[in-house]
Amino acid sequence: MEEINAKGVILRAFDEYRLKSCIDFRPRNEEFYYISVRKLNGCFSYVGRTLSGQQLSIGRFCDSMATVQHEFLHALGFFHEQSRYDRDDHVKILFENVEKGFENNFEKVNKTDSTVSGLPYDYNSVMHYGSEAFSNGKGPTIVTKDPKFQDVIGQRQQLSPIDVKELNRRYKCNSTTAFHMFCSFSNGSMCGMNTCSNTDNDSGWEMVKQAQGGPETDHSTLPTASSKNGTEEGYFMHASTARGEEGKTSRLETKMMEPTRECHVQCLQFYYYHSGNESDILNIWIREFDDQFDSEGTRRLMGQITGPQTSHWRIHHVSLNATKNFQVEFEARTGAGNSSGGFSIDDINLSEIECPHGSLQIDNYMESNNNKSIIYSPRQYTIDGYAYHESALPCPELAPVKIAHPPMDLDSGPCVPRIFGFSPAMVASPALTLLLALMLSMP
Ligand SMILES: [Zn+2]
Repeated sequence: MEEINAKGVILRAFDEYRLKSCIDFRPRNEEFYYISVRKLNGCFSYVGRTLSGQQLSIGRFCDSMATVQHEFLHALGFFHEQSRYDRDDHVKILFENVEKGFENNFEKVNKTDSTVSGLPYDYNSVMHYGSEAFSNGKGPTIVTKDPKFQDVIGQRQQLSPIDVKELNRRYKCNSTTAFHMFCSFSNGSMCGMNTCSNTDNDSGWEMVKQAQGGPETDHSTLPTASSKNGTEEGYFMHASTARGEEGKTSRLETKMMEPTRECHVQCLQFYYYHSGNESDILNIWIREFDDQFDSEGTRRLMGQITGPQTSHWRIHHVSLNATKNFQVEFEARTGAGNSSGGFSIDDINLSEIECPHGSLQIDNYMESNNNKSIIYSPRQYTIDGYAYHESALPCPELAPVKIAHPPMDLDSGPCVPRIFGFSPAMVASPALTLLLALMLSMP
């Protein structure tokens, strides 16, 4: 299981690179330069393109997202952050606390070789050592000049925004490999989407700040957000099923998108809130177009939401497999019963990667955190039919949670204080949505 987990994590790490940069990874054909990923002793990589076929090791306990991303950043030419030529302006290395024989890990890289790209020193970089790295047990080896960053250095959750910027500058990326669109409807922008309905005098989907019957706010600015004073409440899209008759349909369609990756998989991620009748339906379609003369396109139903109301915004994923230019269409359909609300959607994200195979959403996290017991996801299945649960353990010192995949020991997993998701604009929601993405069924 350990190998399966490592493989899944590595594939997820590749997808994160595809989402955030123009870097792509593919199996080797005849290429002279390549990376051979092995399970050797420890986690390591050479810096840059040094050997024709360099070995990169994802050893035991190295199978976490950020560690894999860290090693691949080395292979992509990155040194450790505290090796920058100007690091003495930002951190102090306490050599008296460094274990004998390991001092060379704290050497500086000269100005011409430093990977700086005109960007500021980044305490939050996934390439920065933690304060106790190579300590002989007599205290920290790195002290930040600004004390508030002392506990920040060494984060191993994800690429920092500056890591991403640096990667994109070094590789001259103008776009990303897999990211297509994100629409938060903030500032009242529809991101080029259109609405229509089959009812006169009712345009169907509307952009609102709150909806009759709920929700009271958009997804990303819930009232208990830590930034509650600074944030303007945002917009979301709402289709009422309280007005109009049974069979009324309201459609919201995205602008045209073009699949660019050969794999022809796309993941649509969005948040929804259902405050209507349980017979109301939200259909998710794609409409594919043969060529520029095809004005109608061909519609295929890809997903459906119906049933009881929700008490919170819920995350939802729909796997798409468009092979031609396509639009996504959200169709709210009024059912038979009485409704005092409708469907709402927010923070739509479309990427050319596989959807997560499992997700676990913890609502009212701040309250549920109090009992500090393990929270289990609904049962998930691997492609071979093995059942498993995802588990999340609240982590008091590093709010909010520690996650573990089944093969991992709960006591050795990383603490994860951020949300896992696809959104490049990472949304910190107080009713914390924790997204666990496992790619167990990938070949
Ligand atoms: Zn390293």
